[in-house]
Amino acid sequence: MNAAKRVEGKVAVVTGGGSGIGRAAALKLAAHGAKVCLVDRVMENAEKVQRQIEQAGGTAHAVEVDVAKPDQLDKAIQDTVDRWGRLDIVFANAGINGTIGPIENMTENDWNSTIDINLKGTYFTVRHAIPHLKDKGGSIIITSSINGNRVFSNFGFSIYSTSKAGQVAFMQMAALELAQYKVRVNAICPGAIATNIGKNTHPTPDLKEIQIPVEFPEGDQPLQEGPGSAEQVADLVLFLASDESFHITGTSVYIDGGESLLHG
Ligand code: NAD
Repeated sequence: MNAAKRVEGKVAVVTGGGSGIGRAAALKLAAHGAKVCLVDRVMENAEKVQRQIEQAGGTAHAVEVDVAKPDQLDKAIQDTVDRWGRLDIVFANAGINGTIGPIENMTENDWNSTIDINLKGTYFTVRHAIPHLKDKGGSIIITSSINGNRVFSNFGFSIYSTSKAGQVAFMQMAALELAQYKVRVNAICPGAIATNIGKNTHPTPDLKEIQIPVEFPEGDQPLQEGPGSAEQVADLVLFLASDESFHITGTSVYIDGGESLLHG
C-alpha cells in the first residue's frame, strides 16, 4: 500500500469495475485507502478484482449489476451506504462500443442497447448516488471519450459518439446543479486505451462501405506512445476523486496522448 493515501476513509462506487479502466481505477482508489464497491455485469471479473484488492490489504465488495437496470443500481448503492456508512466517490464508467456501422442500417435495438448502458446507465448511477453525497460533498467522475466532443476518423461510431457527447452535457448540468452541495462532477475523455472493450464492439458487415477517404494528419497522437494504459487513466481518476482537485468541476479532461489536437 502507498505511504501517502489520497482518498483515505472515503467510500467509492466504480461501475465497470471488473475490467479495463474501471478495474485499474478501483485498484488505485483502494490502494489509496478507499473502500470500493465494484459494480459489473460480469460478476466473475468483479470478484477477481475484489480478491486482488483484499490480498493487497484493501477493502472491496463486488456486486453483479447491469447499469441499464435502475433497480439493481439503486440497491447496490444503498447496500454500499448501509455497509460502509457513507458514499464519497462515484466513478460512472461502465460502457460498451456497441454496434458500429452505417447510420442508415442501424436498428432501433442497436441504438437502444448502447444508449441504455452508456448514457442512461450514467444517469441512473449519478441519480441514485446524489442523496448520499449531498450532505457532505463528493466527487462524481464520468467516463466519456474523445468521441464525446469531436469527430474522429473511426467511422461507424455514430451511436457510441452520441452517447459519449450526451454524457458530457449531462456532466455539465449535474456539475452546475450539485455545486451548491460541494459535489463535484467531471468527465474524463480517453483516447485509445488498451482494455477489453473490443469484446463489446460489434462491427456490421457493411462497415467498410463508409470508410470514405478523408485526410487526417499522419501519426495517431503527438506523443507517439501508442494506446494509453488503464493505469494512466486510473491516475487521473484518483486525482479527480481526491481533495487535490477540489477547485475542479464541470470539466472534461482529455487523456489521449494529444490525439484530440490532430482531429476535429
Ligand atoms: P472494458 O470492456 O475493459 O471494461 C468495461 C467494463 O464495463 C467491463 O467489465 C464490462 O463488463 C462492464 N460493463 C459493460 N456494460 C455493463 C453494464 N450494462 N452493466 C455493468 N457493467 C457493464 O472497457 P474499458 O475500455 O475499460 O471501458 C470503460 C469505459 O471507458 C467505457 O465507458 C468506454 O466507453 C470508455 N472508453 C474507453 C476507451 C478505450 O479505448 N478503451 C476510450 C474512450 C472511452
